[in-house]
Amino acid sequence: MVRREVVKYVGALLWLLLSAVCLSKPVFADQNPTYQNQNLWRTVSFPVNNFSRISSRFGYRSSATGGEGQEFHNGLDLAAPAGSYIRSWAAGTVKKVAFDSRCGWHVLVESGPWTHLYCHIQAVAVEAGNIVEAGQVIAAVGSTGRSTGPHLHWTLRYQGQLINPERVLEQMQAAWAQQP
Ligand SMILES: [Zn+2]
Repeated sequence: MVRREVVKYVGALLWLLLSAVCLSKPVFADQNPTYQNQNLWRTVSFPVNNFSRISSRFGYRSSATGGEGQEFHNGLDLAAPAGSYIRSWAAGTVKKVAFDSRCGWHVLVESGPWTHLYCHIQAVAVEAGNIVEAGQVIAAVGSTGRSTGPHLHWTLRYQGQLINPERVLEQMQAAWAQQP
């Protein structure tokens, strides 16, 4: 009697295990973050034309305008001649076009959990509320605000958290380097 119960119990366990393995397969495939990210990385655009060099990296640096001590640089500076097209990194909605003394004239775009900010612009092609495509021209490179020369300051946030844009550029490059 006892042995019969044990056989039943083990059989039920095996059955559960087998169905778990079979059922879980498609779910895992759909939720694979690498797959989803690869999709994203191939739909986004490099944000500026006529890019010449990275003029300042993300992270701590000595003051950009010659002040004392260290400051945190929350984006990536991409040098390009004044007037070069700035392109929306991802498809989304323009949340803000405004001026402040640090960022100068700037455009903020929201794409789902991401926000992308473009600073120091000299001309703007969009207004708040516009829907933009990835790669769409939204502004032109300038040197407005706290800036020592024409460049795009590009800030990326995912769910409100700052992301190093250089890491994102690396992901984009890697996605295109892979086989389809
Ligand atoms: Zn900057």
